[in-house]
Amino acid sequence: YKIFVPRDFSSISLGADEVADAIKEEAERRGISLELVRNGSRGIYWLEPLVEVQTQEGRVGFRNVSLHDVPSLLDSLIGNNNKNHPLYIGPVDELEYLKRQVRLTFERVGLIDPLSIDEYIKYKGFLALKKALDMKPEDIINEIKRSGLRGRGGAGFPTGIKWETVLKTPSEEKYIVCNADEGDSGTFSDRMIMECDPFLLIEAMTIAGLAVGARRGYIYLRSEYPLAKEVLQEAINIACDRGYLGDDIMGSGKSFEIELYVGAGAYVCGEETALLESLEGKRGIVRPRPPVPAVSGLWGKPTIVNNVVTLATVPWIIREGGENYASYGTDRSKGTLPVQLSGNVKRGGLVEIPFGTTLRELIYDFGGGTYSGRPVKAVQVGGPLGAYLPESMLDIPIDYEAFQKVGGILGHGGIVVFDDTVDLWYMMRFAMEFCARESCGKCTPCRIGSQRGVEVIDKLMKDGTNGKLLTLLEDLMDVMMHTSLCGLGGMAPYPVLSILRNFSEDLGIKKELNI
Ligand code: SF4
Repeated sequence: YKIFVPRDFSSISLGADEVADAIKEEAERRGISLELVRNGSRGIYWLEPLVEVQTQEGRVGFRNVSLHDVPSLLDSLIGNNNKNHPLYIGPVDELEYLKRQVRLTFERVGLIDPLSIDEYIKYKGFLALKKALDMKPEDIINEIKRSGLRGRGGAGFPTGIKWETVLKTPSEEKYIVCNADEGDSGTFSDRMIMECDPFLLIEAMTIAGLAVGARRGYIYLRSEYPLAKEVLQEAINIACDRGYLGDDIMGSGKSFEIELYVGAGAYVCGEETALLESLEGKRGIVRPRPPVPAVSGLWGKPTIVNNVVTLATVPWIIREGGENYASYGTDRSKGTLPVQLSGNVKRGGLVEIPFGTTLRELIYDFGGGTYSGRPVKAVQVGGPLGAYLPESMLDIPIDYEAFQKVGGILGHGGIVVFDDTVDLWYMMRFAMEFCARESCGKCTPCRIGSQRGVEVIDKLMKDGTNGKLLTLLEDLMDVMMHTSLCGLGGMAPYPVLSILRNFSEDLGIKKELNI
Protein backbone atom coordinates (compact mmCIF):
# COMPACT_ATOMS: atom_id res chain seq x y z
CA TYR A 1 0.00 0.00 0.00
CA LYS A 2 1.12 3.55 -0.72
CA ILE A 3 -0.40 6.31 1.40
CA PHE A 4 0.15 10.06 1.11
CA VAL A 5 -0.18 12.47 4.05
CA PRO A 6 0.72 16.14 3.45
CA ARG A 7 3.55 17.79 5.31
CA ASP A 8 3.14 21.52 4.71
CA PHE A 9 2.56 23.95 7.57
CA SER A 10 -1.21 24.30 7.11
CA SER A 11 -1.82 20.57 6.98
CA ILE A 12 0.42 20.02 9.99
CA SER A 13 -1.51 22.67 11.92
CA LEU A 14 -4.65 20.65 11.19
CA GLY A 15 -3.13 17.45 12.55
CA ALA A 16 -1.37 15.85 9.55
CA ASP A 17 1.73 14.84 11.56
CA GLU A 18 -0.35 13.04 14.19
CA VAL A 19 -2.35 11.27 11.47
CA ALA A 20 0.84 10.18 9.68
CA ASP A 21 2.32 8.81 12.93
CA ALA A 22 -0.90 7.01 13.75
CA ILE A 23 -1.04 5.38 10.31
CA LYS A 24 2.53 4.15 10.74
CA GLU A 25 1.91 2.79 14.24
CA GLU A 26 -1.38 1.14 13.34
CA ALA A 27 0.17 -0.49 10.26
CA GLU A 28 3.07 -1.80 12.31
CA ARG A 29 0.72 -3.12 14.98
CA ARG A 30 -1.25 -5.00 12.34
CA GLY A 31 1.85 -6.17 10.47
CA ILE A 32 0.82 -4.37 7.28
CA SER A 33 3.62 -3.20 5.05
CA LEU A 34 2.99 0.23 3.61
CA GLU A 35 4.90 3.09 2.05
CA LEU A 36 4.04 6.40 3.71
CA VAL A 37 4.83 9.44 1.54
CA ARG A 38 4.75 12.89 3.12
CA ASN A 39 3.67 14.89 0.06
CA GLY A 40 3.07 18.62 -0.21
CA SER A 41 -0.51 19.81 0.15
CA ARG A 42 -2.66 20.09 -2.97
CA GLY A 43 -3.96 23.35 -1.52
CA ILE A 44 -7.47 22.02 -0.96
CA TYR A 45 -7.27 23.21 2.59
CA TRP A 46 -10.86 22.69 3.60
CA LEU A 47 -10.27 18.94 3.13
CA GLU A 48 -7.04 18.75 5.13
CA PRO A 49 -5.68 16.55 6.48
CA LEU A 50 -6.37 14.93 3.14
CA VAL A 51 -5.04 11.38 3.09
CA GLU A 52 -4.55 9.84 -0.34
CA VAL A 53 -4.17 6.18 -1.20
CA GLN A 54 -2.65 4.87 -4.42
CA THR A 55 -5.12 2.52 -6.11
CA GLN A 56 -5.65 1.13 -9.58
CA GLU A 57 -8.00 4.05 -10.31
CA GLY A 58 -5.30 6.53 -9.31
CA ARG A 59 -4.97 8.37 -6.04
CA VAL A 60 -8.19 8.35 -4.04
CA GLY A 61 -8.78 10.64 -1.09
CA PHE A 62 -10.14 10.62 2.45
CA ARG A 63 -11.12 14.04 3.78
CA ASN A 64 -10.44 15.70 7.14
CA VAL A 65 -8.88 12.57 8.61
CA SER A 66 -8.34 12.66 12.36
CA LEU A 67 -6.47 10.28 14.65
CA HIS A 68 -9.69 8.39 15.45
CA ASP A 69 -10.33 7.66 11.78
CA VAL A 70 -7.03 5.85 11.22
CA PRO A 71 -8.11 2.29 12.29
CA SER A 72 -11.25 2.38 10.13
CA LEU A 73 -9.24 3.82 7.23
CA LEU A 74 -6.84 0.87 7.38
CA ASP A 75 -9.79 -1.52 7.67
CA SER A 76 -11.17 -0.15 4.41
CA LEU A 77 -7.80 -0.41 2.77
CA ILE A 78 -7.27 -4.03 3.75
CA GLY A 79 -10.86 -4.98 3.01
CA ASN A 80 -10.63 -3.30 -0.38
CA ASN A 81 -13.66 -1.34 0.67
CA ASN A 82 -12.47 2.28 0.37
CA LYS A 83 -15.63 3.52 -1.29
CA ASN A 84 -17.77 2.73 1.73
CA HIS A 85 -15.66 4.72 4.15
CA PRO A 86 -17.54 7.85 5.31
CA LEU A 87 -14.55 10.10 4.56
CA TYR A 88 -13.96 8.71 1.05
CA ILE A 89 -14.09 11.39 -1.66
CA GLY A 90 -13.01 9.42 -4.74
CA PRO A 91 -10.12 10.10 -7.13
CA VAL A 92 -8.55 13.39 -6.04
CA ASP A 93 -7.70 14.54 -9.55
CA GLU A 94 -11.39 14.29 -10.42
CA LEU A 95 -12.48 16.76 -7.73
CA GLU A 96 -14.14 19.77 -9.41
CA TYR A 97 -11.98 22.11 -7.32
CA LEU A 98 -8.85 20.71 -8.95
CA LYS A 99 -10.26 19.80 -12.35
CA ARG A 100 -11.40 23.36 -13.03
CA GLN A 101 -7.98 24.81 -12.32
CA VAL A 102 -5.17 25.34 -14.81
CA ARG A 103 -2.16 24.35 -12.81
CA LEU A 104 1.03 25.42 -14.56
CA THR A 105 3.18 26.92 -11.78
CA PHE A 106 1.59 24.50 -9.30
CA GLU A 107 1.67 21.51 -11.67
CA ARG A 108 3.65 19.34 -9.26
CA VAL A 109 2.57 20.76 -5.91
CA GLY A 110 0.92 18.14 -3.71
CA LEU A 111 1.90 15.25 -5.94
CA ILE A 112 5.36 14.46 -4.65
CA ASP A 113 7.50 14.31 -1.55
CA PRO A 114 8.98 17.84 -1.70
CA LEU A 115 12.44 16.64 -0.76
CA SER A 116 12.68 13.75 -3.20
CA ILE A 117 14.84 15.08 -6.01
CA ASP A 118 14.23 11.87 -7.96
CA GLU A 119 10.48 12.42 -7.84
CA TYR A 120 11.06 16.02 -8.89
CA ILE A 121 13.04 14.82 -11.89
CA LYS A 122 10.38 12.20 -12.69
CA TYR A 123 7.77 14.98 -12.83
CA LYS A 124 9.68 17.02 -15.48
CA GLY A 125 11.99 18.69 -12.96
CA PHE A 126 15.24 20.27 -14.27
CA LEU A 127 14.18 19.85 -17.93
CA ALA A 128 13.93 23.65 -18.21
CA LEU A 129 17.35 24.12 -16.62
CA LYS A 130 18.87 21.60 -19.01
CA LYS A 131 17.34 23.53 -21.91
CA ALA A 132 18.44 26.91 -20.52
CA LEU A 133 22.04 25.71 -20.18
CA ASP A 134 22.16 25.43 -23.97
CA MET A 135 20.46 28.77 -24.60
CA LYS A 136 21.99 32.22 -25.00
CA PRO A 137 21.02 34.67 -22.20
CA GLU A 138 19.12 36.83 -24.72
CA ASP A 139 17.10 33.82 -25.85
CA ILE A 140 16.08 32.94 -22.30
CA ILE A 141 14.95 36.53 -21.75
CA ASN A 142 13.08 36.66 -25.06
CA GLU A 143 11.17 33.54 -24.04
CA ILE A 144 10.17 35.25 -20.77
CA LYS A 145 9.18 38.38 -22.68
CA ARG A 146 7.08 36.34 -25.08
CA SER A 147 5.25 34.75 -22.14
CA GLY A 148 4.10 38.17 -20.91
CA LEU A 149 4.97 37.12 -17.33
CA ARG A 150 4.51 39.97 -14.85
CA GLY A 151 5.64 40.14 -11.23
CA ARG A 152 3.28 38.14 -9.06
CA GLY A 153 4.46 39.80 -5.85
CA GLY A 154 2.23 42.84 -6.23
CA ALA A 155 3.55 45.40 -8.68
CA GLY A 156 2.89 43.38 -11.85
CA PHE A 157 6.03 44.70 -13.59
CA PRO A 158 7.02 42.78 -16.76
CA THR A 159 9.60 40.19 -15.68
CA GLY A 160 11.39 39.98 -19.05
CA ILE A 161 12.10 43.73 -19.05
CA LYS A 162 13.51 43.59 -15.53
CA TRP A 163 15.78 40.70 -16.52
CA GLU A 164 16.87 42.48 -19.71
CA THR A 165 17.89 45.57 -17.72
CA VAL A 166 20.09 43.42 -15.46
CA LEU A 167 21.61 41.64 -18.46
CA LYS A 168 22.40 44.91 -20.21
CA THR A 169 23.92 46.63 -17.17
CA PRO A 170 27.64 45.89 -17.26
CA SER A 171 29.06 44.56 -13.99
CA GLU A 172 31.47 41.88 -12.77
CA GLU A 173 28.95 40.77 -10.15
CA LYS A 174 25.17 40.44 -10.47
CA TYR A 175 22.66 38.89 -8.11
CA ILE A 176 19.36 37.06 -8.11
CA VAL A 177 17.25 37.83 -5.06
CA CYS A 178 14.10 35.89 -4.37
CA ASN A 179 11.58 37.86 -2.35
CA ALA A 180 10.07 35.26 -0.04
CA ASP A 181 8.83 37.78 2.53
CA GLU A 182 5.21 36.85 1.89
CA GLY A 183 3.54 39.23 4.34
CA ASP A 184 0.12 40.02 2.85
CA SER A 185 -2.84 38.85 4.86
CA GLY A 186 -4.57 35.85 3.27
CA THR A 187 -1.62 34.79 1.13
CA PHE A 188 0.24 31.49 1.15
CA SER A 189 1.18 30.63 -2.45
CA ASP A 190 4.90 31.39 -1.90
CA ARG A 191 4.90 29.26 1.22
CA MET A 192 3.30 26.38 -0.66
CA ILE A 193 5.96 26.50 -3.39
CA MET A 194 8.78 26.57 -0.84
CA GLU A 195 7.35 23.83 1.37
CA CYS A 196 5.83 21.64 -1.33
CA ASP A 197 8.07 22.07 -4.41
CA PRO A 198 11.37 23.64 -3.28
CA PHE A 199 13.48 22.33 -6.17
CA LEU A 200 11.25 24.35 -8.50
CA LEU A 201 12.46 27.58 -6.90
CA ILE A 202 16.07 26.39 -7.04
CA GLU A 203 15.73 25.53 -10.72
CA ALA A 204 14.07 28.87 -11.44
CA MET A 205 16.71 30.97 -9.68
CA THR A 206 19.48 29.09 -11.49
CA ILE A 207 17.80 29.82 -14.85
CA ALA A 208 17.55 33.51 -13.85
CA GLY A 209 21.28 33.43 -13.04
CA LEU A 210 22.07 31.99 -16.48
CA ALA A 211 19.86 34.62 -18.13
CA VAL A 212 21.68 37.63 -16.68
CA GLY A 213 25.13 36.29 -15.84
CA ALA A 214 24.70 36.06 -12.05
CA ARG A 215 26.51 33.38 -10.08
CA ARG A 216 24.90 33.94 -6.73
CA GLY A 217 21.33 34.06 -5.49
CA TYR A 218 19.69 34.84 -2.15
CA ILE A 219 16.32 33.80 -0.85
CA TYR A 220 15.01 36.43 1.58
CA LEU A 221 12.61 34.40 3.69
CA ARG A 222 10.25 35.73 6.33
CA SER A 223 11.00 34.49 9.82
CA GLU A 224 7.40 33.34 10.30
CA TYR A 225 8.03 30.41 7.93
CA PRO A 226 10.25 28.04 9.95
CA LEU A 227 9.19 24.94 8.03
CA ALA A 228 9.90 26.59 4.67
CA LYS A 229 13.36 27.42 5.99
CA GLU A 230 14.01 23.82 6.94
CA VAL A 231 12.72 22.41 3.65
CA LEU A 232 14.51 24.97 1.47
CA GLN A 233 17.84 24.50 3.23
CA GLU A 234 17.63 20.75 2.85
CA ALA A 235 16.63 21.09 -0.81
CA ILE A 236 19.58 23.44 -1.45
CA ASN A 237 21.94 20.90 0.15
CA ILE A 238 20.50 18.04 -1.91
CA ALA A 239 20.67 20.06 -5.14
CA CYS A 240 24.35 20.86 -4.41
CA ASP A 241 25.15 17.21 -3.71
CA ARG A 242 23.47 16.11 -6.92
CA GLY A 243 25.16 18.75 -9.12
CA TYR A 244 22.16 21.00 -9.79
CA LEU A 245 23.79 23.86 -7.88
CA GLY A 246 27.45 24.69 -7.36
CA ASP A 247 30.47 24.98 -9.65
CA ASP A 248 29.49 22.62 -12.41
CA ILE A 249 25.72 22.65 -12.90
CA MET A 250 24.64 19.47 -14.69
CA GLY A 251 28.19 19.07 -16.03
CA SER A 252 28.03 22.37 -17.94
CA GLY A 253 30.97 24.05 -16.22
CA LYS A 254 28.62 26.90 -15.24
CA SER A 255 28.13 27.86 -11.63
CA PHE A 256 25.36 29.13 -9.38
CA GLU A 257 24.95 29.18 -5.62
CA ILE A 258 21.97 29.97 -3.41
CA GLU A 259 22.01 31.26 0.15
CA LEU A 260 19.02 31.41 2.44
CA TYR A 261 18.57 34.55 4.54
CA VAL A 262 15.88 34.89 7.19
CA GLY A 263 14.30 38.30 7.80
CA ALA A 264 13.03 39.60 11.12
CA GLY A 265 9.33 40.10 10.57
CA ALA A 266 8.96 43.60 9.08
CA TYR A 267 6.20 43.94 6.49
CA VAL A 268 8.08 46.72 4.71
CA CYS A 269 10.91 44.29 3.90
CA GLY A 270 8.61 42.87 1.24
CA GLU A 271 9.30 46.14 -0.60
CA GLU A 272 12.29 45.30 -2.75
CA THR A 273 14.64 48.12 -1.76
CA ALA A 274 13.94 47.72 1.97
CA LEU A 275 14.54 44.00 1.46
CA LEU A 276 17.93 44.72 -0.10
CA GLU A 277 18.88 46.99 2.81
CA SER A 278 17.94 44.23 5.23
CA LEU A 279 19.85 41.64 3.19
CA GLU A 280 22.91 43.90 3.44
CA GLY A 281 22.58 43.71 7.21
CA LYS A 282 21.01 47.12 7.72
CA ARG A 283 17.64 48.27 9.02
CA GLY A 284 14.90 47.67 6.45
CA ILE A 285 14.27 51.18 5.15
CA VAL A 286 13.02 51.99 1.66
CA ARG A 287 15.59 53.41 -0.78
CA PRO A 288 14.58 56.27 -3.07
CA ARG A 289 14.54 55.42 -6.78
CA PRO A 290 16.19 55.80 -9.24
CA PRO A 291 18.38 53.86 -9.42
CA VAL A 292 16.20 50.77 -9.67
CA PRO A 293 17.62 47.51 -8.23
CA ALA A 294 18.00 46.11 -11.75
CA VAL A 295 20.73 48.75 -12.24
CA SER A 296 22.02 49.16 -8.69
CA GLY A 297 20.63 46.63 -6.25
CA LEU A 298 22.35 44.40 -3.71
CA TRP A 299 25.67 46.01 -2.69
CA GLY A 300 25.18 48.40 -5.59
CA LYS A 301 25.24 45.64 -8.22
CA PRO A 302 22.59 44.89 -10.86
CA THR A 303 20.04 42.64 -9.16
CA ILE A 304 16.93 40.77 -10.15
CA VAL A 305 14.42 40.91 -7.31
CA ASN A 306 11.47 38.64 -8.04
CA ASN A 307 8.95 37.05 -5.77
CA VAL A 308 8.70 33.26 -5.31
CA VAL A 309 5.71 32.60 -7.58
CA THR A 310 7.11 34.80 -10.36
CA LEU A 311 10.34 32.81 -10.37
CA ALA A 312 8.55 29.48 -9.95
CA THR A 313 6.65 30.14 -13.18
CA VAL A 314 9.86 30.46 -15.21
CA PRO A 315 10.71 26.72 -15.57
CA TRP A 316 7.27 26.01 -17.09
CA ILE A 317 7.75 28.88 -19.56
CA ILE A 318 11.23 27.77 -20.62
CA ARG A 319 10.13 24.15 -20.93
CA GLU A 320 6.82 24.67 -22.73
CA GLY A 321 7.49 28.00 -24.48
CA GLY A 322 6.55 31.60 -23.81
CA GLU A 323 3.83 31.66 -26.45
CA ASN A 324 2.20 28.65 -24.92
CA TYR A 325 2.07 30.42 -21.55
CA ALA A 326 0.75 33.61 -23.15
CA SER A 327 -2.11 31.66 -24.72
CA TYR A 328 -3.74 31.67 -21.26
CA GLY A 329 -5.18 34.79 -19.71
CA THR A 330 -6.27 38.15 -21.08
CA ASP A 331 -4.80 40.71 -23.41
CA ARG A 332 -2.42 42.36 -20.94
CA SER A 333 -2.49 39.89 -18.07
CA LYS A 334 -1.09 36.72 -19.55
CA GLY A 335 -0.93 33.25 -18.10
CA THR A 336 -2.28 32.09 -14.78
CA LEU A 337 -2.49 33.44 -11.24
CA PRO A 338 -2.36 31.22 -8.17
CA VAL A 339 -5.17 32.79 -6.14
CA GLN A 340 -5.43 32.18 -2.42
CA LEU A 341 -8.98 32.02 -1.07
CA SER A 342 -9.44 32.68 2.62
CA GLY A 343 -11.44 34.49 5.26
CA ASN A 344 -15.12 33.69 5.66
CA VAL A 345 -15.29 31.19 2.79
CA LYS A 346 -16.48 27.61 2.75
CA ARG A 347 -13.75 26.11 0.60
CA GLY A 348 -10.53 28.00 1.23
CA GLY A 349 -7.39 27.03 -0.61
CA LEU A 350 -5.08 27.55 -3.54
CA VAL A 351 -6.74 28.00 -6.93
CA GLU A 352 -4.54 28.51 -9.99
CA ILE A 353 -6.68 29.98 -12.76
CA PRO A 354 -6.06 31.87 -16.02
CA PHE A 355 -6.36 35.66 -15.76
CA GLY A 356 -9.85 36.73 -16.78
CA THR A 357 -11.66 34.43 -14.36
CA THR A 358 -14.11 36.53 -12.35
CA LEU A 359 -14.12 37.07 -8.61
CA ARG A 360 -17.64 35.64 -8.58
CA GLU A 361 -16.46 32.34 -10.07
CA LEU A 362 -13.68 32.18 -7.52
CA ILE A 363 -15.81 32.97 -4.50
CA TYR A 364 -18.88 30.93 -5.37
CA ASP A 365 -17.81 28.17 -7.80
CA PHE A 366 -14.54 27.41 -6.06
CA GLY A 367 -15.09 28.89 -2.61
CA GLY A 368 -18.73 27.81 -2.21
CA GLY A 369 -19.75 31.19 -0.70
CA THR A 370 -19.28 32.15 2.92
CA TYR A 371 -18.40 29.66 5.64
CA SER A 372 -21.04 31.18 7.88
CA GLY A 373 -23.73 30.76 5.21
CA ARG A 374 -24.55 34.48 5.47
CA PRO A 375 -24.46 36.79 2.42
CA VAL A 376 -21.09 38.00 1.10
CA LYS A 377 -20.72 41.64 2.10
CA ALA A 378 -17.20 42.53 1.05
CA VAL A 379 -14.14 41.01 -0.52
CA GLN A 380 -10.65 42.34 -0.02
CA VAL A 381 -8.22 41.53 -2.80
CA GLY A 382 -4.47 42.10 -2.69
CA GLY A 383 -3.56 42.00 0.97
CA PRO A 384 -3.94 44.62 3.71
CA LEU A 385 -3.53 47.45 1.20
CA GLY A 386 -6.11 46.09 -1.23
CA ALA A 387 -9.53 47.53 -1.99
CA TYR A 388 -12.78 46.23 -0.46
CA LEU A 389 -15.28 45.35 -3.15
CA PRO A 390 -19.01 44.80 -2.65
CA GLU A 391 -21.03 41.83 -3.93
CA SER A 392 -22.24 43.88 -6.88
CA MET A 393 -18.67 44.18 -8.18
CA LEU A 394 -17.80 40.49 -8.13
CA ASP A 395 -18.02 40.18 -11.90
CA ILE A 396 -14.73 42.00 -12.20
CA PRO A 397 -12.16 39.77 -13.90
CA ILE A 398 -8.84 38.85 -12.30
CA ASP A 399 -6.69 41.18 -14.37
CA TYR A 400 -4.11 43.81 -13.33
CA GLU A 401 -5.70 46.65 -15.31
CA ALA A 402 -9.29 45.81 -14.32
CA PHE A 403 -8.35 46.12 -10.65
CA GLN A 404 -6.48 49.36 -11.23
CA LYS A 405 -9.60 50.81 -12.82
CA VAL A 406 -11.64 50.27 -9.65
CA GLY A 407 -8.96 51.72 -7.38
CA GLY A 408 -7.62 48.36 -6.27
CA ILE A 409 -4.70 46.02 -6.73
CA LEU A 410 -4.37 42.33 -7.47
CA GLY A 411 -1.30 42.26 -5.30
CA HIS A 412 -0.16 38.75 -4.51
CA GLY A 413 -3.51 37.20 -5.38
CA GLY A 414 -4.91 36.93 -1.87
CA ILE A 415 -8.71 37.10 -1.63
CA VAL A 416 -10.30 37.50 1.78
CA VAL A 417 -14.09 37.12 2.03
CA PHE A 418 -16.31 38.84 4.65
CA ASP A 419 -19.99 38.24 5.37
CA ASP A 420 -22.56 40.87 6.35
CA THR A 421 -21.44 40.95 9.98
CA VAL A 422 -18.16 42.69 9.06
CA ASP A 423 -17.51 46.01 10.80
CA LEU A 424 -16.34 48.19 7.91
CA TRP A 425 -15.36 51.11 10.14
CA TYR A 426 -13.06 48.75 11.97
CA MET A 427 -11.57 47.47 8.68
CA MET A 428 -10.88 51.07 7.62
CA ARG A 429 -9.21 51.79 10.92
CA PHE A 430 -7.22 48.57 10.65
CA ALA A 431 -5.71 49.68 7.30
CA MET A 432 -4.38 52.89 8.88
CA GLU A 433 -3.26 51.17 12.05
CA PHE A 434 -1.43 48.53 10.02
CA CYS A 435 0.34 51.24 8.04
CA ALA A 436 1.26 53.14 11.22
CA ARG A 437 2.75 50.00 12.77
CA GLU A 438 4.61 48.81 9.70
CA SER A 439 5.77 52.17 8.30
CA CYS A 440 9.56 52.28 7.95
CA GLY A 441 9.42 55.93 9.03
CA LYS A 442 11.38 57.36 6.14
CA CYS A 443 8.71 59.70 4.77
CA THR A 444 6.27 61.97 6.59
CA PRO A 445 2.99 61.25 4.71
CA CYS A 446 3.15 57.60 5.71
CA ARG A 447 4.76 57.87 9.14
CA ILE A 448 2.56 60.70 10.42
CA GLY A 449 -0.36 60.44 7.99
CA SER A 450 -1.28 56.90 8.97
CA GLN A 451 -1.35 57.82 12.66
CA ARG A 452 -3.56 60.85 11.91
CA GLY A 453 -5.71 58.53 9.80
CA VAL A 454 -6.35 56.29 12.82
CA GLU A 455 -7.30 59.31 14.91
CA VAL A 456 -9.72 60.75 12.33
CA ILE A 457 -11.42 57.39 11.84
CA ASP A 458 -11.69 56.98 15.62
CA LYS A 459 -13.40 60.35 15.81
CA LEU A 460 -15.75 59.44 12.98
CA MET A 461 -16.61 56.18 14.73
CA LYS A 462 -17.27 58.01 17.98
CA ASP A 463 -19.06 61.13 16.77
CA GLY A 464 -20.82 59.75 13.69
CA THR A 465 -20.20 60.80 10.09
CA ASN A 466 -19.52 64.46 9.86
CA GLY A 467 -18.88 66.23 6.56
CA LYS A 468 -15.87 68.17 7.79
CA LEU A 469 -14.10 65.15 9.21
CA LEU A 470 -14.82 63.13 6.10
CA THR A 471 -13.27 65.84 3.94
CA LEU A 472 -10.24 65.82 6.23
CA LEU A 473 -9.96 62.05 5.86
CA GLU A 474 -10.25 62.31 2.08
CA ASP A 475 -7.56 65.00 1.94
CA LEU A 476 -5.28 62.94 4.14
CA MET A 477 -5.73 59.88 1.92
CA ASP A 478 -5.02 62.01 -1.14
CA VAL A 479 -1.76 63.28 0.34
CA MET A 480 -0.65 59.81 1.42
CA MET A 481 -1.46 58.32 -1.98
CA HIS A 482 0.39 60.93 -3.98
CA THR A 483 3.37 61.84 -1.83
CA SER A 484 4.48 58.65 -0.07
CA LEU A 485 7.81 57.24 -1.13
CA CYS A 486 6.70 53.62 -1.53
CA GLY A 487 3.64 51.48 -1.94
CA LEU A 488 2.99 50.99 1.76
CA GLY A 489 2.04 54.60 2.41
CA GLY A 490 0.88 55.06 -1.18
CA MET A 491 -1.63 52.23 -1.13
CA ALA A 492 -2.76 52.20 2.51
CA PRO A 493 -5.55 54.65 1.48
CA TYR A 494 -7.01 52.06 -0.95
CA PRO A 495 -8.93 50.10 1.68
CA VAL A 496 -10.19 53.33 3.29
CA LEU A 497 -11.29 54.98 0.05
CA SER A 498 -12.83 51.81 -1.37
CA ILE A 499 -14.92 51.34 1.78
CA LEU A 500 -16.02 55.00 1.71
CA ARG A 501 -16.89 54.71 -1.99
CA ASN A 502 -18.44 51.27 -2.13
CA PHE A 503 -20.19 51.05 1.22
CA SER A 504 -21.24 54.64 1.92
CA GLU A 505 -24.86 53.59 2.50
CA ASP A 506 -23.87 51.00 5.08
CA LEU A 507 -21.76 53.60 6.85
CA GLY A 508 -24.55 56.17 6.74
CA ILE A 509 -22.52 58.60 4.62
CA LYS A 510 -24.58 61.05 2.60
CA LYS A 511 -21.78 63.24 1.32
CA GLU A 512 -20.43 63.00 -2.26
CA LEU A 513 -16.78 61.97 -2.15
CA ASN A 514 -14.20 64.17 -3.84
CA ILE A 515 -11.61 61.49 -4.62
FE1 SF4 B 1 8.67 54.06 4.60
FE2 SF4 B 1 6.02 54.42 4.56
FE3 SF4 B 1 7.58 56.11 3.28
FE4 SF4 B 1 7.29 53.58 2.38
S1 SF4 B 1 5.73 55.14 2.44
S2 SF4 B 1 9.18 54.78 2.54
S3 SF4 B 1 7.09 52.50 4.34
S4 SF4 B 1 7.57 55.76 5.51
